[in-house]
Amino acid sequence: MDLLNTLVDKGLRRELPTREEALAVLATSDDDLLDVVAAAGKVRRHWFGRRVKLNYLVNLKSGLCPEDCSYCSQRLGSTAGILKYTWLKPDDASKAAAAGLAGGAKRVCLVASGRGPTDRDVDRVSDTIKAIKDQNEGVEVCACLGLLSDGQAERLRAAGADAYNHNLNTSEETYGDITTTHTYADRVDTVQKAHAAGLSACSGLIAGMGERDEDLIDVVFSLRELDADSVPVNFLIPVEGTPLAKEWNLTPQRCLRILAMVRFVCPDVEVRIAGGREVHLRSMQPLALHLANSIFLGDYLTTEGQAGKADLDMIADAGFEVEGTDQVTLPEHRVTAGGGCGSHEGGGGCGSHEGGGACRSAPAAAPAAAPAGEPRTDLVAVRRRGAGTDLAPNA
Ligand code: SF4
Repeated sequence: MDLLNTLVDKGLRRELPTREEALAVLATSDDDLLDVVAAAGKVRRHWFGRRVKLNYLVNLKSGLCPEDCSYCSQRLGSTAGILKYTWLKPDDASKAAAAGLAGGAKRVCLVASGRGPTDRDVDRVSDTIKAIKDQNEGVEVCACLGLLSDGQAERLRAAGADAYNHNLNTSEETYGDITTTHTYADRVDTVQKAHAAGLSACSGLIAGMGERDEDLIDVVFSLRELDADSVPVNFLIPVEGTPLAKEWNLTPQRCLRILAMVRFVCPDVEVRIAGGREVHLRSMQPLALHLANSIFLGDYLTTEGQAGKADLDMIADAGFEVEGTDQVTLPEHRVTAGGGCGSHEGGGGCGSHEGGGACRSAPAAAPAAAPAGEPRTDLVAVRRRGAGTDLAPNA
């Protein structure tokens, strides 16, 4: 297919595809799906080989958020039966992180619900970062605390944070449909603050909120422009008790096309499959490893993932290898060009690991290339183990 040959050539040269080319990837048929995966897989292997980076989430503070992000089970007014707790102590957070690192993760993502941290919160997280770094040589730490005020990114960097995650989530045009308590511009500002402070910027999206193909293209092109080092791709988990609980719009094929499109637009960055991997890709998860070079190990912020052992088995069975702490995630030109640690994640701003939103609520906006998926509420389980509980984490 000419389109795919063109996209592979551009991906190997880090040349930006046109919007029309990116849209065409999303519009390919199921008959062409393996060709699309094979083409994007060439780009993935060129920049990242067969390595898969594992990241581990620690939810430092869960629920009770004053913001109203429609996709999020921790939002204002959420009736989802999630764990709710205030700040973990540094030692407890460090223990949770150690479980993920022992399971093969090389990055720990410290996430807290809320609009953004107070200066006291930054102190707490700084203590946690130091505790984790003292006890785990070579670990990368990413903070995800919401909107940053002036100076906070610099303080996190000084405390040892390698990266900061804050997702754009969806297009600027539809942002107001999913959240009213802050703006798309607020989110862009925080990503830029992190970047300016020398933190590796991690910013991604949530697919499946009822958006149009054009919205997905908009947000992915914006992420490329922001020069995020890592791009987490969340697939909305429609959690009961959130406004988007009925938005079951994704199929495994659709998810693969979205990941391929992200790889073509952002060829040399860490593309991470984030929330919704098990729920929406299901038995097609191994195929997605040909597109993304990074996943989360174990559980998400408020929902459970598959067993950490199953993640490791899947990677090995698919012929990939877990990236070690002695390996640099990003291609050399990105490591030397940016500050940060040379790898990167985020899981996009707080709450973005769950998914659940409805921006374009008009059914007519649903594209023909995105047939509705069947509700799979049987695959959604609220997290009841790990951080904030007395039970061992899944890692
Ligand atoms: S995504 Fe973050 S800011 Fe939005 S409701 Fe969830 S925890 Fe709050």
